[in-house]
Amino acid sequence: MTILLLAENDASGLSEQTAKALTAASKIGGDVHVLVAGAGAKAAADAAAKLSGVSKVLVAEDASLTNNLAEPLADLIVSLSASYDVIVGPATTSAKNVLPRVAALLDVMQISEIVEVVSADTFKRPIYAGNAIQTVQSTDAKKVITVRTASFAAAGEGGSAAVETVSAAGNPGVSSFVSDALASSERPELTSAKVIISGGRALGSSEKFQEVILPVADKLGAAVGASRAAVDAGYAPNDWQIGQTGKVVAPDLYIAVGISGAIQHLAGMKDSKVIVALNTDEEAPIFQVADYGLVGDLFDILPEFEKKI
Ligand code: FAD
Repeated sequence: MTILLLAENDASGLSEQTAKALTAASKIGGDVHVLVAGAGAKAAADAAAKLSGVSKVLVAEDASLTNNLAEPLADLIVSLSASYDVIVGPATTSAKNVLPRVAALLDVMQISEIVEVVSADTFKRPIYAGNAIQTVQSTDAKKVITVRTASFAAAGEGGSAAVETVSAAGNPGVSSFVSDALASSERPELTSAKVIISGGRALGSSEKFQEVILPVADKLGAAVGASRAAVDAGYAPNDWQIGQTGKVVAPDLYIAVGISGAIQHLAGMKDSKVIVALNTDEEAPIFQVADYGLVGDLFDILPEFEKKI
């Protein structure tokens, strides 16, 4: 069994999502080769070569791959696919843009967002916004899989894999790069943060959100999240949304402030290791998943908490 793992990388290097997806790939069993493509690929490839469990790194730096366009990258993976039984990647926004194309081009079913490897052909994945876990056995000769990285610990260092250069398969020319609009922040990135504090509709305005949530986040070195209600009301930016239609996170500590705990929100955070909830309503569903619950008014409690940190 040989597995091709699509790395998550950008100009700043290799993302930790790669090391987490590697843990899942290693559980499938067999040699794991990592494909690193795009801008800064060489530095990311060197980092991937040091991960424990990687037997080879393929690096592709062709100009057509610079801006992470999905079509040339999917074509490259398909051109390499004859040597692989499994093609796997983290369920990140960029890999989710590429791997379904690969599955379609190979005429196989993608197995999406696995949270457990049962055996080489059987996987567990959440369905119905995480309310049920489906066990999927695939009979496809070649499997295309995305991994919910919040469910796997990152593989450590200790490897010394060979790095080989591969050429792009060419650019099908069906898309072109226009621009990137990247949000920059001093705070940790949500999907890899160890501590997250999230605010909900109860904050009432973007000014209050900033005034009450951000000072606590700064003191804790935490990333900031939000419920969809808070995002839709304009209290917090879109890329802070956590849940079924936002980001899926599993930090060591998740603090939910003025969030009711609708299933769509829980789908994005209930795997957090310790959950703290602050809500005026002691019947709020968030308390069913919380390890620590505090019933009270966030506008009294949070500023007091901030002073005590
Ligand atoms: P509310 O449900 O209004 O809860 C506010 C809470 O604040 C209440 O529990 C209240 O008791 C408490 N409160 C009020 N005042 C205070 C105070 N002063 N101090 C402390 N507590 C107070 N939601 C997501 O979050 N993420 C998603 O990805 C997502 N995807 C969705 C996808 C679909 C298809 C659908 C239909 C919905 C989705 N939703 C999602 C929306 C979800 O159903 C809820 O509407 C949303 O999560 C509610 O946000 P909230 O908890 O901030 O607001």
